Amino acid sequence: MLRVVVLGAAAGGGVPQWNCGCPVCRAARTEHPELRSTQASIAISADGDHWYLMNASPDLRQQLIATPQLHPRAGKLRHSPICGVILTNGEIDAIAGLLSMREGWPYTIYAHPKVLSILEANSIFNVLSEKNVRRLPIEVDKTFEPDLPDGSPSGIEILSFAVPGKSAWYLEGEVLPSGKDSTGDTIGLRISDKATGRYFCFLAACAAVDDDVKSRLAGAPLIFFDGTVWRDDELVAAGLGNKTGQDMGHIAMSGDHGAIHSLAGLGIGRKIFLHINNSNPALLTDSAEREIAERAGWQFPVDGTEIVL
Ligand SMILES: [Zn+2]
Repeated sequence: MLRVVVLGAAAGGGVPQWNCGCPVCRAARTEHPELRSTQASIAISADGDHWYLMNASPDLRQQLIATPQLHPRAGKLRHSPICGVILTNGEIDAIAGLLSMREGWPYTIYAHPKVLSILEANSIFNVLSEKNVRRLPIEVDKTFEPDLPDGSPSGIEILSFAVPGKSAWYLEGEVLPSGKDSTGDTIGLRISDKATGRYFCFLAACAAVDDDVKSRLAGAPLIFFDGTVWRDDELVAAGLGNKTGQDMGHIAMSGDHGAIHSLAGLGIGRKIFLHINNSNPALLTDSAEREIAERAGWQFPVDGTEIVL
């Protein structure tokens, strides 16, 4: 049995974002507090006792307080059920939460060598001493099984695969120690319960649905998929920024090449948008955009939602 908890569903900045007065952020601050959402991350467990995070958002501390499954077990002076963090990219909203996990509890960071090189190049992450926090590389197109603190297998098998994307925006124009190759900037994960064979796919960032992405997601019982923007030029049109979804490495929900259209008819069991930006009108439950997405079978999670596979 695979348990999945949505710790946060929002894109960078969260909902509401500290400096934003867009309709969604205004509503979330005032008459619709249920719209509030922390930055995207999920937690998974095969046994209910040991948990792994998919990305560590800047809101991690708040998310851990709000999630009883991730609290220290009763009677232990120092404890965390978190055994590892799997990073799918090097964006701030995927890695900054690591800095809230620095108080001497052992765990393992799993990430593509490119993302590991970002952590290595930023000395602030040295606060995670190698003695306590192992850093293990993820190889694309190879499965791995995270281990438990005692070295035994977790029962969770993870396959990572490259998806269309781009490098972290704060690194734009920079050349990393690992070079200019874009492989590993953005990865998707297929996460399976070894005991049952049930699985789901996790793509918190994806710039386009190509044939490879389609074939990997076809028939999946559950997917979490990039829901950053409704339309590609949404931030520009709303006067909120000068970048399109594509500029940021994110596909739009709508349009002929958008996620809703591209992932229709693939026999996917349950489709959940994640990493939803506060500019996205589909966040408003009474919007036309929300209706279109829901009619196409897409769901919008609230923080804390637990799914059992
Ligand atoms: Zn906003």
